Amino acid sequence: MANQLVSKEFHAPVRTPAAEAVAHKPTDFKSDVKPDWCPSCGDFGVLAGLQKAVSTLGLQPKDILTVSGIGCSSNLPGFFRTYGVHSLHGRSVAVATGAKLANPDLTVIITGGDGDGYGIGLGHFLHAVRRNLDVTYIVMNNQIYGLTTGQASPTTSVAAKTKSTPGGCIEGPLNPLALAIVSGATFVARAFSGEPNHMADVMAQAIKHKGFSLVDCFSPCVTYNKINTYQWFKERVYKLEDKKHDAADFKAALDRAFEEPEKIPLGVFYKREGAATYEDQDGAIQKFGPAVRQKLGTTPEERKAIWDSFK
Ligand code: SF4
Repeated sequence: MANQLVSKEFHAPVRTPAAEAVAHKPTDFKSDVKPDWCPSCGDFGVLAGLQKAVSTLGLQPKDILTVSGIGCSSNLPGFFRTYGVHSLHGRSVAVATGAKLANPDLTVIITGGDGDGYGIGLGHFLHAVRRNLDVTYIVMNNQIYGLTTGQASPTTSVAAKTKSTPGGCIEGPLNPLALAIVSGATFVARAFSGEPNHMADVMAQAIKHKGFSLVDCFSPCVTYNKINTYQWFKERVYKLEDKKHDAADFKAALDRAFEEPEKIPLGVFYKREGAATYEDQDGAIQKFGPAVRQKLGTTPEERKAIWDSFK
């Protein structure tokens, strides 16, 4: 029955053929909407890094989908000239999963904050990691809920005084890199807004990677987080590539992920090539092709075939 439903008519390639690709400068990925972030917010650096990364990779705006949740940083798709979805709090990964499965040719980039991704959306994040969906997750980690004016988030440091923890935070921070590594992520990296060129390079590697890639970006909230400032990070960050870190070494990656807060490594912690992606293994996609290439609607004969299959 199922084969009768497959369209043979809609198999035009979705992605722009290389011969037709146009080179885009980073500024070509600026939308007409001006970011509404506070002056000096770390999210400006993340947006600039992303614009540079997709430009470097020669990607076309029409081949990219950016999906966010809710939060200051989740406004990013509005400022980035690609297709975009500003979805629900903590649900960006779920929306991105649906989009990627419907059209695996899209370059899907998820953007959002630590509260959105590591708090409300943690379940979606970890399950996307273990599925090895071929998407990139850029988390603007400012260790606070900024949009709601400064409450403790899942990555807030112990003893930090915030609006929701006036006596100091008594919960230990979640370690997103270690979580991703042990959950089966095939690309795990960290960047910092104060190192924009390095950030763009890490993002380009993540987008290029086939499989789930996480880039946790330290993106200071200059308004509500007075502890984890640009200066605080500058005194602690170092680049993994300067220490000859082997990103293929699972144990070394985990060791590096537990170094903070005394030292904060930046760069690619862990990378595993060649793992099958979820969409490469999905039976329906393999058998019928992605939804985007199937025709809309059904004929009377197809509806009858569906009906008959339940008899
Ligand atoms: Fe950035 Fe913080 Fe301002 Fe939000 S409140 S825009 S995170 S500086």
